[in-house]
Order: sequence, then structure tokens, then C-alpha cells
Amino acid sequence: MDPLEILKDLVAIPSVSPMGRDVSGPEYLETRLSEYLVGFFNRLGVECQRIEVLPGRANVIARLDRTDARTTVLLDAHQDTVPVEGMTIEPFQPVVREGRLYGRGACDVKGGMAAILGAFARLVADRPRRAANVVVSCTCDEEFTAQGAKALARLWSDPARAGSLLSAAPTVAVIAEPTDLNVIVAHRGAIRWKLRTRGRACHSSRPQEGVNAVYKMAEVLLCLERYADELPRMVPAHPLCGPPTISVGRIAGGISVNTVPDECLIEIDRRVTPGENPQTVIPHVTTYLRERLDVDFEMLPPWLDGLTLSDQNNGPWADRLLTHIAAVAGPRQKQGAWYGTNASRIAATGVPSVVFGPGSIHQAHTVDEWIDVNELRQASDIYYRFCADG
Ligand SMILES: [Zn+2]
Repeated sequence: MDPLEILKDLVAIPSVSPMGRDVSGPEYLETRLSEYLVGFFNRLGVECQRIEVLPGRANVIARLDRTDARTTVLLDAHQDTVPVEGMTIEPFQPVVREGRLYGRGACDVKGGMAAILGAFARLVADRPRRAANVVVSCTCDEEFTAQGAKALARLWSDPARAGSLLSAAPTVAVIAEPTDLNVIVAHRGAIRWKLRTRGRACHSSRPQEGVNAVYKMAEVLLCLERYADELPRMVPAHPLCGPPTISVGRIAGGISVNTVPDECLIEIDRRVTPGENPQTVIPHVTTYLRERLDVDFEMLPPWLDGLTLSDQNNGPWADRLLTHIAAVAGPRQKQGAWYGTNASRIAATGVPSVVFGPGSIHQAHTVDEWIDVNELRQASDIYYRFCADG
């Protein structure tokens, strides 16, 4: 089964993440892609489960076992894509031109999913003698809050979820993301939270009677800017992933120009390096600000928890994968990444995890997203060989 034909199917089925916005329409959510995947696995005659994670959003997993296999390989790819506003190509009409397939998700990460599905179909047909057990997971909601990967990891780590196709932990996990066929062994995580200042509203014609929450926030922001400068000197860089960073991405305050604002909120993004304890991140910022400011502020609970991927226990698996990559596509490297992936959720349960797939992260989320067809087929061959090698 040619991964290119599978990829055309996947791109033609929209599965756009709303990214937390209040939007609806046929292009949103993974529902129809999940149906396609269930049909795909049913045609292969393998065991398959559709596990609802959020309303209309499910993980689809399928499993191929071999008697006396000693390892179980988990291959994961997410079903959702980022939105399509501003794209310069037709997002859901897959077009092949000059060795590239264009469309939303071609690179991130329907290409990786097609490569995995092609490899899996080949494993089902060939039944190689030394192959591992193979579980394919197509997870939902990766681009926004990673609920799909969290639910997936609970299948083996939460006894209440027993009875699924993944009730025992896999031996190793390979997560598809565009890596140019390199192997990502470490990446940073993100913690995101809101900081709030409060004031007292009054009519702007008599501002001295109120307390301006925006002025308070201005002081906080200048101090946070200094913190951002000093952070690389306070927390060491990771050899593969670089230094930690912090950025303020949004600000909101006030209801009208003639009212002294009683509240101001900012949203903060802090990238955590492997080896850092995410629990210490917000207290560290809080102490820094309190020591330097005479302004009261409040940290709200984070909505992302800063899980990272560490290279401490995945080295031998990365080496093994690199051997197969070299045989198919020539030498590649172990790398660190500045972005996060589902691998951190799976690695958090102790399963050695690496990130590998066709395409470049530079084509992910772009206005004319594409993937190299040759690399797509090479990746499929590499997934196949990795699983066939027990
Ligand atoms: Zn992705």
C-alpha cells in the first residue's frame, strides 16, 4: 500500500483543531478522520478501538501481535492539524507537484501518519518472523492541549482503564513529527499560565479615586522582561535543547477608555528544559517579582504542565532506529528540539520514547504546507524495518 495514496486520503479529510476558539463547521475536529481510520484498520482485519477522549474527538488504536514477540512498539501520530486561515493553497485538495504533496497536514503530521499506516499494512501482509508486537495510535487534540496523548498514556498507567488494546505499557514508542528523518531524543516542554493584577474601577474623570490595574501590570512587565534576560544565567541550558525561555504573549485589561481598569491579565509562556523540575518554575518567577516589586499580583494555575522529553533512557532505541534510517536514507543524527510533542506524555510513564518522521518542521503550520514524496516513502520503509526487527 503506497503511503502517498494513504496521505491523499488523509489530507482530503479535514481534521482542524479549533485551538480553543468557539468555532464549528465540517472542517473542525477529528471525527471524520477517526471514522476513516477505523475503516482502514477494519479492512486490514486487525483489532481496533475508537476511544472517545472529548466530545466528537477520539483516539483510534490498532494492534498486530506476533506470538512470542518480546517487544511491543507503539507508533503514534496525531490526527489534528492547525487551522487553515491564510493558506495560499487549497488545504483539503491534495496536489502532487514536482515530487511534493501539498495540503494542510501533509507535513504535520498526516505524512507521518500515512508512513506509519503504510508500514503497518505491510507488516499485516508480510508477518515478518522476528517482528515486534505493533500498536498504532492515532491521537486527537495534539495541537492545543494534548488530551489525546494524556488519555493514551492512561491506558497502561491507570488501572481503571484496563481492558484496552494497550493495557500493558509498550516497550518503546516512536512519535511521528516532521524531523527530516532525524531522531529527536530530547525536547523542551511548555508551562503556560496567567498573571493578574487587580485595581479599583472608577470614572476616568477622577482617576485619583481608583486604583489602575494596568499601571500595576506595567511594572510587572518591565520586571518580567529583566527576568527573561537573566533566565539563561539562572538556569543552565540543556546540551541538545538550549536554554529555558520565557515570553509574555497576551495582555488584556480594562473595559473602556473612560473607566479606570480594575483588572489586568497577561499570559506567560515558559519553555522548560529536560532535567528542570516544572513544579519550581512559577514559584521561581513569583519570588523574583516579589523581591523587586512593591505591587500585588496573582499567579493563576497553569493550563500546560511543562512535561519535557529527556534523553536519559531512549539512547539504545534511538541508535537502533538510526541504523535503519541509515540503511534506507543515509546517515542522520540524534537531535534536540525546541518544540514539544506527544513523546513527553508517553515518556512520563517511563516508556522510552523518540520522535521521528518525514518532512521538515519548517513546513509545518505554513501557508503552503507540503511534504517530499520520496521522504514519505523512505519513512514508511524505516517504520517497517524498525518493527520487523523485533
Ligand atoms: Zn505535529
